Amino acid sequence: MIVMKFGGTSVESAAAIERVAGIVKSRLKRQPVVVVSAMGKTTNLLLTIAEKAYTGDRDEAARLLEELASYTLQEARPVCDEADWAEVSGFIEAHFQELSAFLDELVGIGEFPPQYVDLISSYGERLSSRIVAAAFRHFGMDGVHVDSREVIVTDRRHTQAAPLYSRTYAKLEERVRPLAEAGRAVVMGGFIASTQDGFTTTLGRGGSDFSASIVGAGIGAEEIQIWTDVDGMLTCDPRILPGGHRVKIISFGEAAELAYFGAKVLHPATVVPAVEKDIPVLILNSRNPENEGTRIVAESVPCANAVKSIACKRNIVVVNVQSLRMLMAHGFLKRIFDVFDRFQTPVDMVSTSEVSVSLTIDNTAHLDEICAELRKIAEVSVDSSQSLICLVGDNIRETPGLAARVFGSLRAINVRMITQGASLLNLSVVVMDADLKAAVEALHAEFFTTLDEKVFEA
Ligand code: ADP
Ligand code: ASP
Ligand code: MG
Repeated sequence: MIVMKFGGTSVESAAAIERVAGIVKSRLKRQPVVVVSAMGKTTNLLLTIAEKAYTGDRDEAARLLEELASYTLQEARPVCDEADWAEVSGFIEAHFQELSAFLDELVGIGEFPPQYVDLISSYGERLSSRIVAAAFRHFGMDGVHVDSREVIVTDRRHTQAAPLYSRTYAKLEERVRPLAEAGRAVVMGGFIASTQDGFTTTLGRGGSDFSASIVGAGIGAEEIQIWTDVDGMLTCDPRILPGGHRVKIISFGEAAELAYFGAKVLHPATVVPAVEKDIPVLILNSRNPENEGTRIVAESVPCANAVKSIACKRNIVVVNVQSLRMLMAHGFLKRIFDVFDRFQTPVDMVSTSEVSVSLTIDNTAHLDEICAELRKIAEVSVDSSQSLICLVGDNIRETPGLAARVFGSLRAINVRMITQGASLLNLSVVVMDADLKAAVEALHAEFFTTLDEKVFEA
């Protein structure tokens, strides 16, 4: 058994869904369970529509919802059998009517509580998974839909829910595994789940990769395939710098670090269930299915290059905390971290001197409250529009002179902060957003001019 996850662009149109059907059909012998994202930009659109509704622009919300409904119907029609169409189109229309009723409720309450965020954004995957299951029947497979909310059980942290693994695995084993073993082409929506009391939750943005990995671990898959719109993990983010090289093989630890520090191609939590059950994860391109992609494996990957890839996060904020009281005092860092913890704001990078600490965050929802709290114990300043650049590779810990190469290549750029991650396989720097592209270009030229061909595609 294998899990095959297809992201938004891979199911964005009738033609894309047909390509997916072809890819799955040619791998039926491996008993695939398919996990799909919402079609194209559906999740973003649903959230925009909801925002329009709760900020009072009900007409614009209605117009955008209408557009999304016709796009969904239009792309679904060519991939459904005549016999299936009444049911599928009825399902799509009924779901858009439900959505419209929820939007009316939002207009009334004037806010967007996280339970509603989950409920509304869940429609993308609920629709796409039904449509893809029908499409599989249309293209000659025995497509069957399983509602992920009936098998993936999470806690109640809406918009960022965590799976309750043993319950989820038991349900997957009971409901999904037998279908795959019987040769049915199972299709499930990624991203969505529910609490034990049946309330819809989601696993966080980009969470369909995580769903795929949970499903893979639960059914005991031999491989988890993440099908997307690039040839695999590249040596740099193609949205910042095109022309990166494909990384053929990488370890779970390295991939997790890259994902966490901005390589959107993989959701950072994806590796957790895969590591636990030692299931390899592959990143593959649905527009170029012959390419062998990136293989993510448990063991570390020997490599002549010090760095495997460069990830970046734009638009982060550096919070500088300074206090003479810190001099020789203990417990100061704890008080600082307690503040971030109370406001549930993860800190990515920290550097300290005797009297100051700089920390980076990318979730700024509670920045004002955090600063107000910190000002009770120290002087605080904030630098916004910063970027974090993270070099990742197992060899970083053993490569002498690496920091000198980093600084040498960034000599024309003002580096705000630098840390070697506690995991020892990352080295990160902070620069201004405006310098990001030039910095990545310089680092990429420094570390990827000669390539170990066992690990990289030249
Ligand atoms: P999907 O909809 O299939 O989940 P995503 O948009 O979430 O796709 O992830 C794929 C995108 O990740 C790529 O199109 C690319 O722009 C971006 N990306 C960022 N960093 C990297 C990287 N190091 N290697 C490959 N892709 C990357
Ligand atoms: N559709 C969800 C999102 O856009 C989940 C995913 O695509 O992985 O965040
Ligand atoms: Mg994604």
